[in-house]
Amino acid sequence: MKASGGCLCGEVRYELDGEPIFQGHCHCVDCQKATGTGHVSVLALPSDCVKVTGRTGSYAVMADSGMPYTRFFCVNCGSLVFGEPASMPGVRTVTAGTLDNVSLFQPQMVVYAKDRPAWDKIDSGLPEFETMPPRG
Ligand SMILES: [Zn+2]
Ligand SMILES: [Zn+2]
Repeated sequence: MKASGGCLCGEVRYELDGEPIFQGHCHCVDCQKATGTGHVSVLALPSDCVKVTGRTGSYAVMADSGMPYTRFFCVNCGSLVFGEPASMPGVRTVTAGTLDNVSLFQPQMVVYAKDRPAWDKIDSGLPEFETMPPRG
């Protein structure tokens, strides 16, 4: 896919050029805190397919994987724009709501369904996993 996107204020912009590795919704408690709502919707792509410009701040937290997950946000408006899971070297996640054309997002799965709040039920018909899907 070729796509562009950015934060709420326009300070941070990005270009995507490559095929997503996966796309989905994550309900883990860290994503709830980071977004301020019940889940985050992300596309994961090879890092070199994601070109970012603008000033970002970052915050790393230890993920369930036992390795840090770093989230990057606009220093001006606070929009959560992308992430780097240390458990998946060379992969960047991009938050779907920051796409200029949000219809390009094609979610395939729901992860960390065990942490999903009752009020954030997405009736999507997508495969759901209690935590992460099995690898392989
Ligand atoms: Zn911004
Ligand atoms: Zn999550």
